[in-house]
Amino acid sequence: MSTIEHWIGGEFTAGRSTRKGPVFNPATGEQQHEVVLAAPADVDAAVAVARAAFEEWSQASLSRRAKVLFGFRELVNARVKDLAEIISDEHGKVLSDAAGEVQRGLEVIEFACGIPSLLKGSYSDQASTGVDVFSFREPLGVCAGITPFNFPAMVPMWMHPVAIACGNTFVLKPSERDPSASNYVARLWQEAGLPDGVFNVVHGDKEAVDAILRHPDIAAVSFVGSTPIARYIHEQASATGKRVQALGGAKNHAIVLPDADLDFAAQHLTAAAFGSAGERCMAISAAVAVGAAGDALMDLVSRKAAEVVVGPGRDPRSEMGPVVTAAARDRIESLIGSGEQQGAKLLVDGRGLRVPGHENGFFVGPTVIDQVQPTMDVYTEEIFGPVLSVVRADDVDAAIDLINSNPYGNGTAIFTSSGEAARRFQRGVHVGMIGINVPIPVPMAYYSFGGWKDSLFGDKHIHGPEGVSFYTRGKVVTSRWPHVSHASGASLHFPTAS
Ligand code: NAD
Repeated sequence: MSTIEHWIGGEFTAGRSTRKGPVFNPATGEQQHEVVLAAPADVDAAVAVARAAFEEWSQASLSRRAKVLFGFRELVNARVKDLAEIISDEHGKVLSDAAGEVQRGLEVIEFACGIPSLLKGSYSDQASTGVDVFSFREPLGVCAGITPFNFPAMVPMWMHPVAIACGNTFVLKPSERDPSASNYVARLWQEAGLPDGVFNVVHGDKEAVDAILRHPDIAAVSFVGSTPIARYIHEQASATGKRVQALGGAKNHAIVLPDADLDFAAQHLTAAAFGSAGERCMAISAAVAVGAAGDALMDLVSRKAAEVVVGPGRDPRSEMGPVVTAAARDRIESLIGSGEQQGAKLLVDGRGLRVPGHENGFFVGPTVIDQVQPTMDVYTEEIFGPVLSVVRADDVDAAIDLINSNPYGNGTAIFTSSGEAARRFQRGVHVGMIGINVPIPVPMAYYSFGGWKDSLFGDKHIHGPEGVSFYTRGKVVTSRWPHVSHASGASLHFPTAS
């Protein structure tokens, strides 16, 4: 069993803390590593190194930064398989899904390779007689990222490539449940020529997070995780004057109208509900079956759910792996039980699944619960497992009202052949990311990712143009180079153009 250490200033270190946490292989249920859990002194050490590195990196030319980013892109691209295996072994997701997450992270790196264009300012020649006005953006300093277990490579990549391309230095605090991918990525940054100290990884739990939130030399915090922690991060980081974006949890609804191609909808609903064992912030966890669509849709979804091949992530035959921990499995199974007790109809029950040869793995099978009411726990809780709750609605407006009554507003989708209904939906829902016949509408890297309401605290979405804006601050210069004979004539009036 190896010990996973911090990466500070371009080398691994055990740090000062003696605390450690277990890292499991969810497919076998066995502990495979231990990870060091930082003390505040370890966060201090990483921030000190990052602060010193900022002096040089913030002055690096755009072409030098782009060159490092391109090198990093090549290395990540060449190591997708390695990264996918690391992710699968600690998270549990199947290899193809893990490779997909790395691919979506790569797209953010590719976006960040365009930093010379992204940081172009604006220029107004002769804004006033002999006066020019121009704007540009500068990096903030040391930025921190605090990330969840469910995308151990992609979610950090929503942050650090953009922050670093903008000239910042970075301290990443990944999830302590699957920490290895971040260390692997750290070495790739170094290999790409990033100066030591620009990218650092501090492993830990609440103690490390609180030290980040309190640290006076951290300028900005990006967080992705559950809603209660997102709210806490936003409050605490704002209170210490930091810029903060905190993305929270979700309950993503997909509406299926009777005019939809039901087979297509059922296929995509199944994939969106059970892919990655439902441990995606953009998973569809609630289906809203409208009118006559209901019964036929339930037949199709139940059949497809029962056909999903569940097994270890490393087995290429597996379509869905285990969930991340035994505690997660127990919580998911208990919520399924509550649905049954509260009167919902369990069409497919994934509890108690045993995978031959992996009897101690943290497996829960795909589960479909019909006739769910909005007051039931399976509806109000973010289950974060392979459970699709189905609510029935009379028409599209009732379905939109249901979505808008939900405290979350991350993603949503509609399946329909009606352009009119789709347009009513896209304009009517209070949700940040919307799919039309697309169940998991994760925006491309050159757009920004973010939900509304309890799915995001702070005003900036992540990566894309809003990411560049988040990791930089603007300057506007008003400049005059007077001809000697025009040098006089200053006035106490408020300046207006002349
Ligand atoms: P989590 O909130 O438990 O943990 C996220 C991070 O916060 C981790 O690094 C963890 O160490 C830290 N943390 C946990 N408890 C803390 C505490 N009490 N104080 C300070 N820090 C704490 O989330 P998770 O279980 O790792 O990930 C799943 C959650 O993340 C789900 O709710 C999911 O919807 C959400 N998520 C959201 C998005 C999005 O884009 N909105 C993306 C991915 C995941």
